[in-house]
Amino acid sequence: MFDFKEYEIWFITGSQHLYGEETLKQVAANAAVIVKGLNSEGKIPVHLAIKPTVKSPEEVTNLLREANYDDRCIGVITWMHTFSPSKMWIKGLSLLQKPILHFHTQFNRDIPFSTIDMDFMNLNQSAHGDREHAHILSKMGIARKIVVGHWQNEKVAHQISNWARLAIGKSRLTKIKIARFGDNMREVAVTDGDKVSAEMKFGFSVNYFGVADLVDMINAQSENEINHLIEEYEDKYDLTKPLLKYGDKRNSLIDAARIELGLKTFLKNGGFSGYTNTFEDLAGMKQLPGIASQRLMNAGYGFGAEGDWKTSALLHTIKCMAHGLEGGNSFMEDYTYHFEPNNEMVLGSHMLEICPSITTKKVSCEIHPLGIGGKEDPVRLVFNADKGPAINVSLVDLGHRFRLIVNKVEGVEVSQEFPHLPTARALWKPYPNMEVGLQGWLLAGGAHHTVYSQNISVQMMEDFGEMLDVETIIIDENTDLKLLKNQIKINENYYK
Ligand code: MN
Repeated sequence: MFDFKEYEIWFITGSQHLYGEETLKQVAANAAVIVKGLNSEGKIPVHLAIKPTVKSPEEVTNLLREANYDDRCIGVITWMHTFSPSKMWIKGLSLLQKPILHFHTQFNRDIPFSTIDMDFMNLNQSAHGDREHAHILSKMGIARKIVVGHWQNEKVAHQISNWARLAIGKSRLTKIKIARFGDNMREVAVTDGDKVSAEMKFGFSVNYFGVADLVDMINAQSENEINHLIEEYEDKYDLTKPLLKYGDKRNSLIDAARIELGLKTFLKNGGFSGYTNTFEDLAGMKQLPGIASQRLMNAGYGFGAEGDWKTSALLHTIKCMAHGLEGGNSFMEDYTYHFEPNNEMVLGSHMLEICPSITTKKVSCEIHPLGIGGKEDPVRLVFNADKGPAINVSLVDLGHRFRLIVNKVEGVEVSQEFPHLPTARALWKPYPNMEVGLQGWLLAGGAHHTVYSQNISVQMMEDFGEMLDVETIIIDENTDLKLLKNQIKINENYYK
């Protein structure tokens, strides 16, 4: 589903004509070495495309205008090898619509103390050239990621790599379409919101489709395709007895496979990247999609239960940004709490729809009754999420703006048996602790639905919020409730 080869990031070196041909040749050559170095060994998930050194207002403006209109270009990196007077950049920067990373590096790592002379000083001016550049960015109020350090430093490459993933996410978010089967769960506030404002702000579109059209697609699936998919289920998962061949619930497995194929065909034909459904509108469907939603998420589709289109779009985007990284990303809901002193934690799950990308353990395919929805028993995948660092992310609509809420958590090893809980589950401990973490989330108005991510960091989400120009509330080890309360009040003013 995700192919990063379709993207590139432009590496733009700034200078001016003052230094003469020789110096400018060296500037271009050095920039090429840096780009080649960063492009090597897959350090950055996207190809960095080197652009000619810009030396005049016209060159800056033309290049940044071109960046806007080039579909492959998802962002630009700027670096001032020499001093590039920043008034030259005003027009171009005012037009730029792509994310920008200001790379504050220099070609040489060390000062060559024994040989340094004025020629060297003439050529290697990032320390002050980049300050001139940063000044105009600040003066113009342009959000950008600043990465500081020598370009051969692994940590520096890692920061650029993370930013590149965010730029991919932003590009994706502007293009994707989300299909809604059925509307919002009746009377629920947080899963709803202004879809038109969301499209204006983020670019993704959300549209409604009749469940009957989906059911037609489900019923049109061939026996052959269904049999193939069931073989895949048998291959990948431990099927419980009733679902085995000649088991008394085998027909439900066949129905589940038919639903998965129908959903997948609908999404594929319509060019959708995610969808929502609701147990309140399953007209004509035999069971609520369980294994179907779980496996479609695993394939990269966004999903939101109960009509939650914001979480669906966010999940697909985060899955895209995280493509190729270890760990997974799932639709999640805070289900219930464990308040044991000194061992407090959250049990996360949903009635069915948790993505198996968050486990490396055994996944079993089971069938159990579902208390709500009034349909036949749904087939679902049951497993325990892997332990390790993770985040919960929620996007909410506050009416006059959107807010992103991020809570750093520590996924806990699930060692308990759950003989009577027929759902996939995750256990985690929120940062900085249960009391402050939950208070912070409630203060910020975060949803009960989240994207649970094992491979996107808090820092990345903070940067992503800045890139999207959306208010972002971070709850992590540094969270202090007094400061958070003030932050929310200050933000209210800032985003007015
Ligand atoms: Mn829910």
